Amino acid sequence: MEYGIIESLKNLKDCILSVIYSGNENCILCNNELYSDKYICDYCMKSIMICRDKTEIGNVNGTLKFDCYSGAYYSGSMMELIVKLKYKSSFRSGHVIADYMYNSIKANKLEFDFITYVPMTKKDFKRRGFNQGEYLANILKEYTKKPVISCLSKIKSTKDQIGLSKRERWENIKGSFRFKNISLIKNKNVLIVDDVLTTGATAFYCALELKNNGANKITILTGAKSRV
Ligand SMILES: [Zn+2]
Repeated sequence: MEYGIIESLKNLKDCILSVIYSGNENCILCNNELYSDKYICDYCMKSIMICRDKTEIGNVNGTLKFDCYSGAYYSGSMMELIVKLKYKSSFRSGHVIADYMYNSIKANKLEFDFITYVPMTKKDFKRRGFNQGEYLANILKEYTKKPVISCLSKIKSTKDQIGLSKRERWENIKGSFRFKNISLIKNKNVLIVDDVLTTGATAFYCALELKNNGANKITILTGAKSRV
């Protein structure tokens, strides 16, 4: 009997995986037929603007800066992919985004000992069911063969950033993150992964928390960069 239940669960798992990873005959954005093994068609891909710039995210007096790279700009199909990943749990979208991020790692020759990601509060995690940054980090782990280590917690719920001024956005995020797993990051080079870079406040405070707790070099990599 018990064996039967285990078999049923295995079958269920296989069914779910086959739905998620089944043949991708149609573009996940426009539903056009695909003629390659990619998830999006050439037409949708054309509107993705690759981001080749490095952004320096620093504090107000400029004494501390972190380098930030992004796969593409937050516009066109990349914006659609991010929205689909975050709000519709489209894991295929996550794979396309991660491909652009990995291209940025290669193009900019980014070097790091391990990958971490911008955390969510427990409440937000429960509501969404997954952390999109963690999801992207785990795909990049497969590509780079570098481990993913969870070393930050989000301890403060933050207001929606929409409608806030730049200064308010920075104030809103300040003190939201707390470091964990200190022994694992001492003197290590860390790649922090997130979905979108907007003001840079989130990435900055995550990086600052790691820096203050002994990490060596910290680089930030996001799927997209907003032009705001
Ligand atoms: Zn398409």
